[in-house]
Amino acid sequence: MSQLLKTAGFILRAVPFQDDDLILTAFTAKLGKVALFARGARRAKSPFGPEIDLLSESEFIVFNAKNIRPLREATLRHYFPRLKANYDGLNAAMYGTRLLSQLVHEGQRDENNLRLFSRFLHALDQEDVPVALYELAYKLRLLDNFGVAPHLDGCVRCGKSGQQVWFSLGRGGLICPACHAPGDLALQAGLAQGLNALRTMAWDKLGRLHLSARDLAAGAELLEKFMVYHVRGNQAKKVVV
Ligand SMILES: [Zn+2]
Repeated sequence: MSQLLKTAGFILRAVPFQDDDLILTAFTAKLGKVALFARGARRAKSPFGPEIDLLSESEFIVFNAKNIRPLREATLRHYFPRLKANYDGLNAAMYGTRLLSQLVHEGQRDENNLRLFSRFLHALDQEDVPVALYELAYKLRLLDNFGVAPHLDGCVRCGKSGQQVWFSLGRGGLICPACHAPGDLALQAGLAQGLNALRTMAWDKLGRLHLSARDLAAGAELLEKFMVYHVRGNQAKKVVV
């Protein structure tokens, strides 16, 4: 007899298997990122419903098998209907999910990132949500939790804080005017402070942070360049400075 285990979590991915089954990837409290086998999930009379939809937050009862754990029962906790009906929100959530899935290892329990992911989806499920602000805050914090975030506390070379108006992709962080070298990226005034606030402010206060659309777009572009340089590829690598 297999042992049953109950755990709450999120559906990150669903892949069709055989005629009418699904292999789910869930991110859960007790099992970390885990593969679940949902038998008959694609049948017209499926035993499962929205509780195993992509991004749903549910409580799962699984057989605690060695490899892919068969899912016996799931109970929906949050469906995030506003998020799923908002193209920008959904796009941000899916991008955030892929990034999480890329960074977190199979079977690794990770309370910090589970809490962060939950806060991100709940934030995106609000009315009139500033999607770009939450997306940038989530990405910075996720990378930070994995030790691969850009260095935003003072100059990455000499440590001096103050007016950081340059960013070194190679060194992975802010650069002061004294250390700046050709090839560094020029930042608009205030952007470095804005990014640092997104990374460090209490999550439930983020909605009060006023960053212009221009700042958010510039921050997203900078982080994208940083990730192409330091994080993309199969494995996240530590930023060497
Ligand atoms: Zn410096």
